[in-house]
Amino acid sequence: MFGTSQSRKVIALLNDAGYEAVFVGGAVRDALLGKEPKDIDIATSATPEQVKSVFKNTIDLGTEHGTVLVIESGEPIEVTTYRTEGTYSDNRRPDEVQFVTSLEEDLKRRDFTINALALRIDGEVVDPFHGREDLSKKTIRAVGNASERFSEDALRMIRAVRFVSVLGFDLDSSTKASITELHTTIQTLSVERIKTEFDKLFQGAFAYGALELIAETKLSEGLPLYPAQQDEWFQCSPFRSSLDGWASLMIAGHFDASEVVSAYKLSNKERLFLQSVQKFYTIRQLRSYTIEDYYNAECSTLVTVEKLLGSLTTQQPIDEHEIRKAMDLLPIRSKQELAVKGKELMEWSGRRGGRWLGEAIQAIEHAVLYRVIPNEHYAIKEWFLHEYECKE
Ligand code: ATP
Ligand code: MG
Repeated sequence: MFGTSQSRKVIALLNDAGYEAVFVGGAVRDALLGKEPKDIDIATSATPEQVKSVFKNTIDLGTEHGTVLVIESGEPIEVTTYRTEGTYSDNRRPDEVQFVTSLEEDLKRRDFTINALALRIDGEVVDPFHGREDLSKKTIRAVGNASERFSEDALRMIRAVRFVSVLGFDLDSSTKASITELHTTIQTLSVERIKTEFDKLFQGAFAYGALELIAETKLSEGLPLYPAQQDEWFQCSPFRSSLDGWASLMIAGHFDASEVVSAYKLSNKERLFLQSVQKFYTIRQLRSYTIEDYYNAECSTLVTVEKLLGSLTTQQPIDEHEIRKAMDLLPIRSKQELAVKGKELMEWSGRRGGRWLGEAIQAIEHAVLYRVIPNEHYAIKEWFLHEYECKE
């Protein structure tokens, strides 16, 4: 049976109230592929106001686009009114949407045949554009005329290659030809929309093929930043995460972390990761890691650095197991693990806080890290008092 019991209940309640309601989009596609669907979307002939009147607990997610979040037994479920989209004056978003009562009309506005499938609660699949056939042929094909659909919304071209990456499918030849023809129009897209699709593209098991297609269709020319030498970059895939993907774009493209961050408006977390990868990648091209490097780095950063090094250089990478072992052998993982506190240093020395305190803690941290002294309270006290008296 498809969907969660809560999502089936939402459909049943809408049906009972006299409206049509179906599962739709990516979840239906994934279920037909035998994959665990992620987010479940429901489409309905009921208007947002009608949806809100059927359920007690709802949140508006932009009624102008027709989406209401229904909270059913604690589970949030997106319910979107059947709609068609008006004209697109800027290759980005429809200027207006019109609510309709026909499911087929709603499916017609969707990007690809494999995403234009609906499933009724009784198990009937609604498939006016032969999405199931394309699923079995492993083909990504635009609904209707590809050039027209890509002119309406240029993001669909990036979505097409994103699905290549995630599903391992091929582009239908006319869909591919239209992308090549219209590739420059992606320049008009907002970076945020491009970034969201790239996050998913990087996580696909078939990222290699997708990156290759981006170059082949010349989509690369319209992107904010893209490595010039792509063959090398392709070797870095598949990526463990989207973070890994962004890091590989940076290193393979010889970009600075700040360039990638601003070109694709990456988050703060992503910025910190990229800066750290850049730092340790530069170090590793010169030498191996020191104890301090292992102490200062996150394991995931070094794993990414080594993966990139293995793909992009002739250097022998250190494997993850070795990195973990080196980190496990560290006497401490952070300052917080030191067996003494700043307050104790002040007591022992009879001095008030100041710059000396930070320096003393750093010296202790260093001595413990390099096993000059064990991380034990009395050993540190003795060492500290001795060092301190020597300085006095
Ligand atoms: P995922 O499994 O990654 O969520 P998805 O196919 O569900 O993939 P979403 O971005 O969640 O992708 O979009 C949900 C559905 O909305 C799609 O399956 C498609 O039917 C439709 N859709 C999304 N974006 C567009 C677009 N730009 N143009 C046309 N239809 C779209
Ligand atoms: Mg989805």
